[in-house]
Amino acid sequence: MSKPLRFELQKSLNTDTTKARAAKIYLKKHPYALELTQKGQSFPNSTPTEFVIETPTFMPVGTQGTVKGLTPNDLVAMNAQIILGNTYHLYLRPGHQRVERLGDLQKFMNWGGPILTDSGGFQVFSLSAMNKINDEGVTFQSHIDGSKHHFNAELSMQIQRALGSNIVMAFDQCPPFPATEKFIRDSMKRTVEWAKRGLKVELKPHQARFGIFQGSLNVELRKESIAQLSELPFDGFALGGFAIGEPMEMMHQVVRHVAPLMPENKPRYLMGVGRPEDLIESVRAGIDIFDCVMPSRNARNGQLFTSVGRINIKNARYADDEGPLDPSCECETCKNYSRAYLRHLFVAGEYLSGRLNTIHNLHFYINLMKQMRKAILEDRFDAWAKDFYSQFNAS
Ligand SMILES: [Zn+2]
Repeated sequence: MSKPLRFELQKSLNTDTTKARAAKIYLKKHPYALELTQKGQSFPNSTPTEFVIETPTFMPVGTQGTVKGLTPNDLVAMNAQIILGNTYHLYLRPGHQRVERLGDLQKFMNWGGPILTDSGGFQVFSLSAMNKINDEGVTFQSHIDGSKHHFNAELSMQIQRALGSNIVMAFDQCPPFPATEKFIRDSMKRTVEWAKRGLKVELKPHQARFGIFQGSLNVELRKESIAQLSELPFDGFALGGFAIGEPMEMMHQVVRHVAPLMPENKPRYLMGVGRPEDLIESVRAGIDIFDCVMPSRNARNGQLFTSVGRINIKNARYADDEGPLDPSCECETCKNYSRAYLRHLFVAGEYLSGRLNTIHNLHFYINLMKQMRKAILEDRFDAWAKDFYSQFNAS
């Protein structure tokens, strides 16, 4: 039986300043994708049996089985290669068993591409009104109706198995920032034990699984986490517990130290990060995969990322601006609408505002990753980054 995930490292830079790398990740197609392939509706950049993900890559976040305001066709148009779904939210609503009955999350939302699901751990600790944790698992109250639930390493796997995602994340405990050294150590150790327990739960044949390294900003604990989990049979690994309120410069320092220590021949994923400059600095450290709500959430609030810097579209200076949002962007929004119109939609509170802004911001992020990949393959990452920053920070 073929593996659910294969990793092909194409180029790895190794200078004093950059460890950036470019790779291809091959993911086995889920049943719905195979069904579409048979009908001649194959997902872009895929073979009859596998998806091909080119890294570095960014995953748009589809919390509740939708990237807010967008259809799967929009995601294909912006070249999204893989999206993220949230285990905690889908478990509470509409329920993982219902999703499975309806043919896995991909079929449920009519998305022909791959999905990564998180473990639910982060949301259980950050969203629920109450949570009680011990080595066995976590009891928590739903943020929707206050009902009581219990998650543990095994159930997180079972939920993700039912959702049918292509990449399943191990159940982890993410310590808040700041936390005491003892708390960070305990949660790191607990995460290792939960990872081992989760490995015993069988998944569907197309499902790959990633382990998660914890340890907050403590480089020694991060190293310990990497040493203990790297030998386990995961298909890839993630750094969890970043971008939760710590100064971003501190995150960059720790990621710079630990990313190169992650297994070289497997995908490296930095969870929940971040701003364009965080993606660039983390790619420079050797990270392959990212996800973050920032581009879509900021879009809905009128905060837009462009090649010439950040724009707040509600600003009165755009009221008569006939130019495109970003002159060097090829997205549907920039090709068809003016800054003046986008400002009007935002000020008037129109639905279309969030949608057009989200299309642009996600396109910007995906294109940013593509530019980085090209620069890595052409061995000019540092020069590219310098150019990008000089334009992006100019205004
Ligand atoms: Zn655009």
